[in-house]
Amino acid sequence: MTIYPLRSGLHAIGGTSLARVKAVMDQRAAERTYGIDEAGLTPTQGWSLPALRRAWNQAKADVAPWWAECSKEAFNTGLDALARGLTNWSDSRTGKRAGRRVGFPRFKSRRRSTPSVRFTTGAIRVEPDRRYVVLPRLGRLKLHESARKLARRLEAGTARVLSATVRRDGGRWYVSFTCAVQRTQGMPACPDATVGVDLGVTHLAVLSTGEVEPNPRHVDAAARRMRRLARRASRRVGPDRRTGRRASKRWERASARLGRAHARVAHLRRDGLHKLTSRLTREYGTIVVEDLHVAGMLANRRLARRIADAGFAELRRQLAYKTGWNGGRLVVADRWYPSSKTCSGCGAVKTKLALSERTYTCTLCGLVLDRDVNAARNLAALAATVAGSGSETRNGRGADRKTRPGGPVAVKRQPGTATAGKTGTVPPQGRTSNHELTYAS
Ligand SMILES: [Zn+2]
Repeated sequence: MTIYPLRSGLHAIGGTSLARVKAVMDQRAAERTYGIDEAGLTPTQGWSLPALRRAWNQAKADVAPWWAECSKEAFNTGLDALARGLTNWSDSRTGKRAGRRVGFPRFKSRRRSTPSVRFTTGAIRVEPDRRYVVLPRLGRLKLHESARKLARRLEAGTARVLSATVRRDGGRWYVSFTCAVQRTQGMPACPDATVGVDLGVTHLAVLSTGEVEPNPRHVDAAARRMRRLARRASRRVGPDRRTGRRASKRWERASARLGRAHARVAHLRRDGLHKLTSRLTREYGTIVVEDLHVAGMLANRRLARRIADAGFAELRRQLAYKTGWNGGRLVVADRWYPSSKTCSGCGAVKTKLALSERTYTCTLCGLVLDRDVNAARNLAALAATVAGSGSETRNGRGADRKTRPGGPVAVKRQPGTATAGKTGTVPPQGRTSNHELTYAS
């Protein structure tokens, strides 16, 4: 498989164009200090994808005389990422983009970054035997797994391929297809049933039914092997950016094995989470989870590895879109809702509850229950208090929003433009107000 021309093309393009954008910006800044008026400055370099592409097409013969060997999509992928990065940086600087500050795009290295290229035009198809895919420039590629699920949808006409992305991850090459899918609206097995899900570190999830989903702790299981592989890599001659030393072949091999070990953990974790979220969304009509402050918990260095290993944020993301697919709804309890401190029997709230207390004992009604089951039951009860608001709710900006009854869910979307924050939050019990609720739809 000759992907190497694509790889070098990809990084050359992003780097060359980024250098140009930077050079023009620096030039203009310097000219301003000389007192040149705005009209006399070097013309700006546009940041939009078409503008960057135009500049690239003018410059490519000089900076990359080998450009014709590569697919134009390789250049386009790099330019698209650069345009996106520059927009994010400027939006973040002007306050248009919420969340963590986005820095100025950095130069990438062919050796360090994940090579990927997205094909949007040309011959993209799955061969009838479902064992091969055909991509522009790369031709016919043998797949490790059968592409039958995609092929079935394509044959039935319920999916249309919009793009195919080839990337290398953990030592393997992957191809993923972005499709517009016509999805039949599912129906949970028990549409009226509600389940509260308490996420934790001791157990991955405890359901209000008393069912316990153990935390598989893949990182712990692989830790010894990963330590050994990391130690082995550290004894080899690695790359050094200060002296410009290249890594040895033996270091490359050792670090590739370490990368495989990390990738395996990530795959195991993803598989487990998908199975859990699929099971929950297929069975229950309403699922209630807590809005955990995952970024804040990851700042706690003693818990960070465990929490990252459990994958709370990913679990929540999967629940949000799968409830939409399966016709259920997801209710997210407010971050400050005291699910652990409240008695699920009488509603009394304790002021203090140490993390070490694994059993909840109510001094008022005498309830004795596992701590996590108690929390999960409280979450489930929360759904009943908001159920009266029906399917029509408002989102955070106050606009009306209906839970969609059905129809196709996946629509054409530019990659990387997923709408964030599709799930709203429920305020703590007692100050529930309809207009502050949204459900994932
Ligand atoms: Zn009680």
